[in-house]
Amino acid sequence: MLVMMKRNVTPLCDRHHKPMQLAQFGASNIALNFVAHRCMVESCSRVYQHGHGYIDVTDVISFEQAERRDCPEDQMTLYLAAIEPDGNQIWHCGQVHCEYVEKINPHERFHVMLKPISAGSDSSSRNQPYAQMEAVGTSTGEKLVGPCLPWPLTLTALSVFGQNAVQVAGIRNSLLNGTSVELAGIMSPLCVPEQQLRKAGLKRPTTSSSATSSPIFI
Ligand SMILES: [Zn+2]
Ligand SMILES: [Zn+2]
Repeated sequence: MLVMMKRNVTPLCDRHHKPMQLAQFGASNIALNFVAHRCMVESCSRVYQHGHGYIDVTDVISFEQAERRDCPEDQMTLYLAAIEPDGNQIWHCGQVHCEYVEKINPHERFHVMLKPISAGSDSSSRNQPYAQMEAVGTSTGEKLVGPCLPWPLTLTALSVFGQNAVQVAGIRNSLLNGTSVELAGIMSPLCVPEQQLRKAGLKRPTTSSSATSSPIFI
């Protein structure tokens, strides 16, 4: 799909929550000029570039603290459009002709589950369970899901949640027994912000995949 941003919209800076303005950029680590929305707060380097999300641009472009929310309908990036009086954030898809809107409670915390996925007759799955992560918001009940992953990639995702060797062994046993398992923190069930879920590859389910229950393998 062609990356094409809506005209006449005003993204807010994801750090300052102030309106951004279109500006022309040229950065020394890329060989092109581009137009994107920049924060007008002095000394703020934040830029919303459709297709990349929020990035930092000084004399170079930095993706180090990139903040990217993907639209589940077209995989384009969302921009922060408004902050409600109660602090909830309203994110809109930046892509032309897409009306997708997402409401985010920045204080929401999630519990994380791992569900075993039957990988059919594949015998290698006997010791290497396939699994899918699912997270549920503790106050909103909102659900995020990850892709179905083979065990080595599940391990990588688990490292985001700081699981130790003992916890990982327990998780693997549960999955091999065909049982779902909830990730635990130090004293109680793990409770994490959404940003951490996105680092581990979890997303809001797409409209089409939530209608069918068939998992997506990668
Ligand atoms: Zn800013
Ligand atoms: Zn969209």
